[in-house]
Amino acid sequence: MRRVAVIGAGLTGLSAAYEANRVAPDAEVVVFEASDRPGGRVRTTAFAGHLVDEGADAFLVRVPDAVELCEELGLGDELVAPAQRTAFIRVDGKLRRLPSEQLLGVPTDLDALAASGIVTAAGVEVARRDLEAAHEPLRGDAPIGEVIRERLGDEVHERLVAPLIGGINAGDADHLSIRACAPQLAAAAEQGGSLVAAAARMRARSSADPSRPVFNAPRGGMGVVIDRLTKAVEAEIRTSTPVRSLQRDGTRWTLDADPEPFDRVIVTTPAPVAASLLGRSEATGLLAAIPLVSVVMTTLAVRRERIDHPLDGSGFLVVGPAEGIITACSFSSSKWDHLSNPDNVVLRVSAGRDGDQQALSMSDAELTRTIEAELADMIGMHGQASEVRVTRWVDAFPQYRPGHVELVAEIEATVSSDLPGVAVAGAAMHGLGVPACIGQGRMTARALLG
Ligand SMILES: Cc1cc2nc3c(=O)[nH]c(=O)nc-3n(C[C@H](O)[C@H](O)[C@H](O)COP(=O)(O)OP(=O)(O)OC[C@H]3O[C@@H](n4cnc5c(N)ncnc54)[C@H](O)[C@@H]3O)c2cc1C
Repeated sequence: MRRVAVIGAGLTGLSAAYEANRVAPDAEVVVFEASDRPGGRVRTTAFAGHLVDEGADAFLVRVPDAVELCEELGLGDELVAPAQRTAFIRVDGKLRRLPSEQLLGVPTDLDALAASGIVTAAGVEVARRDLEAAHEPLRGDAPIGEVIRERLGDEVHERLVAPLIGGINAGDADHLSIRACAPQLAAAAEQGGSLVAAAARMRARSSADPSRPVFNAPRGGMGVVIDRLTKAVEAEIRTSTPVRSLQRDGTRWTLDADPEPFDRVIVTTPAPVAASLLGRSEATGLLAAIPLVSVVMTTLAVRRERIDHPLDGSGFLVVGPAEGIITACSFSSSKWDHLSNPDNVVLRVSAGRDGDQQALSMSDAELTRTIEAELADMIGMHGQASEVRVTRWVDAFPQYRPGHVELVAEIEATVSSDLPGVAVAGAAMHGLGVPACIGQGRMTARALLG
């Protein structure tokens, strides 16, 4: 094997290139990137005197791929955990602290749930029935909402599970696959009987070491991972070089962006672009059918005295149906010690989710006005932000519908038989979180080149 092409220089593509160097050290690796910078949906820029993420700002520690890669890149000592371990949920017009006794929103202590005030007394009583229930073990896949509503009632679903999982995916948990989006909950439901008890057992196992944080990030923001990865990869990274076609050339592949053929090609672009590159393969239609949702991330710097709320948490999620456009808000300067500042507060506000894309069509000025008005009600913000940055992430969140795991297996099998030597990976396939993208980039390179 002499030449390997990686299309897309997001986390998945850069991780694939990094792994390609390891498994095929003699091959020439070329990374093609349409935009003028590597990193894709990961971007950290200067804001209000700090380096603040415009997209992802942390990764899960439990899924080891991101921590492992950071350690390999010499970033182990730079990793920090959020200074705040709890968050709020906005429900019935109030911010209420999320109990820590939960697994992806499934309460593992119903007294703590009752004390939180997030669910009404009647809602807690419905959830308590689960403790004695003989639920059949979950088989196959199902929408998250179907599993949770049936076992714990509508309130626990709508006020806890849906905001948490919906927030991670910018999705509607009534339409998201439990297997693909919440494998831990699927595993708990597979045990049958009480879901609360199964979730409590799993939580006890996973939090056996209380000193281990749930999230990590480099002190300089997620862009540090991209910078290090870009330097570590022994490949030519050609920015501003979109690939528009992939043609078979005997046993090799030719891209319109390069005159010489490649032996292997790893496609890591967003799904619609990947679909367009696969030509007449049936995988094209399967990839193109994965729904996508856009979000807007608005970062605000606000004078400390202009906010009444103590901001003593990592941020809040908003329970639907939406009262406005805000779906979540990170209190970034409370969440991260390296962003704390006695005078200025940094907030990262998310808007846009499956079924509600109105924020995307607003101008920056209208968006800022709307967010400031909503924050006045939510955290007692008065006056205007001193600095604002708006980042539109179009089609950034693939929606995993029930059956997604099988759909991905079908896409991979079809690509491998229709386009030998080509593989597809990325946020639309095996998970959209940072560790999942790193893991699948590396796994795809090993499988295709190893
Ligand atoms: C606002 C936001 C917040 C998030 N927060 C978190 C978080 O806190 N924690 C977490 O774990 N995850 C988070 N995520 C998810 C995570 O950041 C992404 O899913 C992940 O970065 C996607 O990586 P990727 O490489 O698969 O895709 P992308 O980053 O989309 O990379 C694909 C690349 O392909 C390029 N490309 C497109 N077309 C072509 C072409 N024709 N030729 C060549 N290149 C092309 C693109 O320019 C892009 O650089 C967040 C995402 C967003 C948008």
